[in-house]
Amino acid sequence: MSRAEELARFLARRGIRDERVLAAIAAVPRELFVPEDVRRDAYADRALPIGHEQTISQPYMVAAMLEALELDGGRALDVGTGSGYQAAVLAELADEVVTVERVPELAERARATLAEAGYGRVDVRVGDGTLGVPERSPYDGIVVAAAAPAVPEALYGQLAEGGHLVVPVGTVRDQWLEVVERAPDGPRRWRTVPCRFVPLRGSAGFAEPRHG
Ligand code: SAH
Repeated sequence: MSRAEELARFLARRGIRDERVLAAIAAVPRELFVPEDVRRDAYADRALPIGHEQTISQPYMVAAMLEALELDGGRALDVGTGSGYQAAVLAELADEVVTVERVPELAERARATLAEAGYGRVDVRVGDGTLGVPERSPYDGIVVAAAAPAVPEALYGQLAEGGHLVVPVGTVRDQWLEVVERAPDGPRRWRTVPCRFVPLRGSAGFAEPRHG
């Protein structure tokens, strides 16, 4: 059994039910998305540093977010590319994946890693993901891998009817994973699990901290 398959089994024991999500986790070589100095922890169930004060998300959270998306094919938007790992897992579940990252160096590295791992068809963009990527909308699912002070309006607006937006909402320190469904009669919203993500920046994110 590969280490990715072992990770999927572990996540099933932790309560992830969606077989498609578990198969997607089992298919993606997470070690390729992790910097060399932390590679031996690539399959540990925790977030790891990837540089630029950012992290690759904890596998359990990746699985919980993608389970909440309820995707079956279609087009997906991933906000906060980081290492590209979540975009790769998403590429196993959606027909088309668009991902957006604000740090150009991370986007460039993710593009190279995705190509190396066989996910070269993922569309990696540099920009403010709180504004979405309107020219490729609507999306059947939108997932945000950084914490927002509130559900970003522009992202809800880019959902297809029946689509789901999954986003951690709260303070810089503590958040809940929120799901917003675009139902025919308007947004339907619920919370799933408590979580702790790095802050989303940009126009619908948190203000930049002052250094010095
Ligand atoms: N999904 C990533 C986790 C990345 S952590 C992975 O699998 O590795 C969150 C990422 O969101 C960071 O890389 C951070 O730079 C990025 N980010 C923060 N604010 C953003 C914004 N407004 N638009 C796009 N990316 C943003």
